[in-house]
Amino acid sequence: MKKTPFKNYSVNVEKSVKLLGLPKEFIKKLTTPNRILDKKISITMDSGKKQTFQAYRVQFNNARGPYKGGIRFHPDADLDEVKALAAAMAVKCAVVGIPLGGGKGGVVCDPKKLSPNEIEKISRAWAKVMTPYIGANKDIPAPDVYTNGQIMAFILDEFEKNTGKSEPGLITGKPLSLGGSLGRDTATADGGAFVLRELVKALGMKERGLRVIVQGFGNAGGTMAKILQKAGYVIVGISDSHGGIYNSVGFDVEQLERVKHDKGSFKDVAIKGAKNISNEELLVSDCDVLIPAALDGVIHVGNAGEIKAKIIVELANGPTTPEADEILSRKKVFLIPDVLANAGGVTVSYFEWVQNVQNYYWTAEEVRARLEPIMVNSFKAVWQMACAKKISLRDAAFAIGIGRITEAMGERSLKL
Ligand code: NAD
Repeated sequence: MKKTPFKNYSVNVEKSVKLLGLPKEFIKKLTTPNRILDKKISITMDSGKKQTFQAYRVQFNNARGPYKGGIRFHPDADLDEVKALAAAMAVKCAVVGIPLGGGKGGVVCDPKKLSPNEIEKISRAWAKVMTPYIGANKDIPAPDVYTNGQIMAFILDEFEKNTGKSEPGLITGKPLSLGGSLGRDTATADGGAFVLRELVKALGMKERGLRVIVQGFGNAGGTMAKILQKAGYVIVGISDSHGGIYNSVGFDVEQLERVKHDKGSFKDVAIKGAKNISNEELLVSDCDVLIPAALDGVIHVGNAGEIKAKIIVELANGPTTPEADEILSRKKVFLIPDVLANAGGVTVSYFEWVQNVQNYYWTAEEVRARLEPIMVNSFKAVWQMACAKKISLRDAAFAIGIGRITEAMGERSLKL
């Protein structure tokens, strides 16, 4: 099945424009990126051979502030996906009301097949080619799938070498020693857990005992599993790119971390009482809450009808296709969309940038205390709109985000 994440984004924009009663011309403006940087980067591999990689940065919309968004290193990264992710970042920042726009980057490569030395070279090459276009007040990258704090450090270092000045606000998700923020490592999951708690409350349910499946055991999914277990949820299923495991009575997440650390993957691991399943089986296994926290497009027309969860929390970006959305709506599944569910990450990235610009740093408690009301209030606004207009949480979140972006665009020019 061909992935078209940007088409999926456009469908959501069209719905919002209609819902908000905006002129149809807005659809074009909201689906046209300001700039696409499509570059080739070359490095010398450990073998001594030169290799060229495709590198992207899409600067989608900066009406509300500098472009903001991660960089993904993945063999399947492509321009359509990077465009969709950049656009979603603009909407996400607007949904949680932080003064940033939307951007995203990527390098088409397989980090699992690269040495640390080659990954450093690719990161520096990306920074070098993008230096004229990024900056603390222009475009602020961050980690995404298969990139991390170490890669952000390489990019910052290369950028500062090229520009000859210190600019920690260039990039977020940095190591603490370079101006990273306390609480950034858990922010996406913290934010997801806050909005899930609010939804559970709004539905008159209790958190304790709800059975959860998490797809993906990386920064977002692994941390979410830990936080939810602490809050009394039961983690019954988990997976990584190789496969998953399921146990109806629940796992101990610390044990899962040890297994992942020791074996490298959940594929074919033997855990007492657990069965080994594929990622496809995992998504349709029995649970109350399903948390896709890996890649986009995994909930589609082929499996949406089989999903057992009553609640879906999209920690991944774009995990549900519009067709699947319709099916889930008909099944009365409550789905917290990515632009709200995983917005804790960009919110604490914004806090990191604020701390860098002020050169004054907060404690982890201050970071969490500032994150919680933003997530709770954003959820309440989305929930209220969804209830008032009888629409899905995604349609409500998009309408709020698109409304705020078009308001900022309108303030900037009468010719919008
Ligand atoms: P990560 O690289 O830390 O982890 C990704 C996880 O997904 C890994 O466990 C990997 O094994 C798994 N995975 C990869 N391919 C898979 C497949 N085909 N099937 C099942 N699992 C697969 O990445 P992350 O930072 O946790 O990001 C995960 C998702 O969350 C992405 O969509 C990302 O855009 C989104 N997100 C992350 C953050 C953040 O702060 N980390 C913020 C917002 C959104």
